[in-house]
Amino acid sequence: MAASGAAQSAPLSDRVVAYRIEGVYNAKTHALDATEILTYTNKTGTTLDRFPFHLYLNAFQPKSTWETEAKRIGQRDTTEESARWEDKHYGSNEVKSLEIVGAGDVTKQMKFVSPDDGNVDDRTVFEIVPPKPVKPGESIQFKIHFVAKFPEVVARSGYKRDFLMAGQWFPKVGVFLNGAWNCHQYHATTEFFADFGTFDVKLTLPAKWNVGASGVQTGARDNGDGTQTVSFHAEDVHDFAWTTDPATIVVEDSIKLSSRTVKIRMLMQPAHMASAPRYMAALKGAMRKFDEWIGPYPYPQITVVDPAHGASAAGGMEYPTLITADTSWWMPKSVLIPELTVEHEFGHQYWYGMVATNEFEDAWMDEGINSYVQVKVMDALYGKTTSYVNSRLYTLGQRGAYLTDYAPVADLDPLSRKGWLFVDDGSYDAISYSKSALMMVTLESLIGEKTVMHGLHEYFERYKFKHPNPADFTAAMNEAVGQNLDWYWKQSIYGTETLDDCILKAGSERVDWYSKAPEEKGVTVYHNEVIVQRKGTFELPVVLEAKFDDGSTVREHWDGKDRWHRFVWDRKAKLVSAEVDPEHGYWLDRDRYNNSWTEKADRRASGKVAGYWTLLTQWLEQALSWLA
Ligand SMILES: [Zn+2]
Repeated sequence: MAASGAAQSAPLSDRVVAYRIEGVYNAKTHALDATEILTYTNKTGTTLDRFPFHLYLNAFQPKSTWETEAKRIGQRDTTEESARWEDKHYGSNEVKSLEIVGAGDVTKQMKFVSPDDGNVDDRTVFEIVPPKPVKPGESIQFKIHFVAKFPEVVARSGYKRDFLMAGQWFPKVGVFLNGAWNCHQYHATTEFFADFGTFDVKLTLPAKWNVGASGVQTGARDNGDGTQTVSFHAEDVHDFAWTTDPATIVVEDSIKLSSRTVKIRMLMQPAHMASAPRYMAALKGAMRKFDEWIGPYPYPQITVVDPAHGASAAGGMEYPTLITADTSWWMPKSVLIPELTVEHEFGHQYWYGMVATNEFEDAWMDEGINSYVQVKVMDALYGKTTSYVNSRLYTLGQRGAYLTDYAPVADLDPLSRKGWLFVDDGSYDAISYSKSALMMVTLESLIGEKTVMHGLHEYFERYKFKHPNPADFTAAMNEAVGQNLDWYWKQSIYGTETLDDCILKAGSERVDWYSKAPEEKGVTVYHNEVIVQRKGTFELPVVLEAKFDDGSTVREHWDGKDRWHRFVWDRKAKLVSAEVDPEHGYWLDRDRYNNSWTEKADRRASGKVAGYWTLLTQWLEQALSWLA
């Protein structure tokens, strides 16, 4: 089905899959009865003799891998309530029949598999062996009758009263990558990975209910029986999500970007209308910055879904050309959670949406790079130190929030860990999001802010619609910035090295310490000494700034490879202060309170005040930990 006028001119992606799905949604049982026709074109260059599919909603069953892991390591929606099993938590994707067009019904041949953990009770992946292998260049068509039963909202999907956020709701084929199928089970911490293609989705649901979806709306008709049928088309995307709610208020606008005008459609909860202008301003600001720094947004529309009260587990999530926001009726203007959420989720349109890395295996390539650009966009739009909290008594920027998150778990898991293998959900979050952002921020100190952004732009242009892996990223960055940064990537991506440079000792003593002559300013020569210790294991060049009582300042450099280094100055002035990282750019440094020494510091007082702010920052960081 062609999209009406809004279609793009030429395919942007390789369009491996074409999904046509028609479903009827029962708003009372929160179930969708649907038929999916998937045309898969074999562009792998290899003959394919089996096909794995995700059935994500089967994660919400007591013995699933998702629930087992959520009990063990946590998941981002964990609440008191979800700690005990209740029937409303149940979700499922039930395949009623599966036919390979031209080869007949193969439902009985469906086999559930658990490639990651061997859990025989997990039903989130099944495989089918077609009677005839599919040769390179050939297509195969699957016709699947399925019922999607949504849980009360959990992990970004489900209902709350009449509100529904339908994510990961249909049988989705895996990705054939590097000579093998990549089709992981649904894990408590992991997100998703799929091939690009087209989606034509036709939904029948209660008449007059507002509907939002990936892509653009291509038709709507009132069936005269209390239902309506709405159709949507999306292309060059790898997933499709939709939402419905009778109560929402639709706010529409558009934005003119370098390559095209993009329609903005927001589905707002009436009680949240105060946040509508906040969402809109953040979205437009983010769209302009991405257009300027990273590349053009190629799609005709972006849809923002504001989840119902009590459904914030559906908030803060990205789907292609559709994002979910989060706010509450009481959200103060000084706490920028609505802005930050919209910025973050829009940013995913680039890294998750277009670059489309494997979120199961390389979560940081999406969440982390996105979190770094979030720092830059939020700095530009709302101020470097005020972009998270901006009140008279307290301000907080993105960097400080990330460091509070990262510092306590800095040496547990490397960025390169597969998403479901982290020690717990807290480490997954702190490493995938916060550490990656801080790694890129710290890189600015080494190669320059503009150079890092230029590298990301080049990486985006080279790998959009291509599913790059970490080696592709580091090679593209090295090339774009004209430097081999492998020594840096090795420690920050593949290692758990931690950075903690500190002033171990500092002070001055007159050179003629044995002399009985009185000290005389400008005449007496002092032996000034600072010892910098590399307390962590990360090797990074160190810059030390020392200030003297004659008003002079010196900056010294050390390669940061040994465990400590002594700096010495014999001069007619006394040391008054010393600081490592004087530009405050090494945000990977897990303890910034030991970076400086002052002759007259009242360390206890400043430490105590800092402690209060740390507590508040930790609380605020917690408030954001559900961001996906
Ligand atoms: Zn995210």
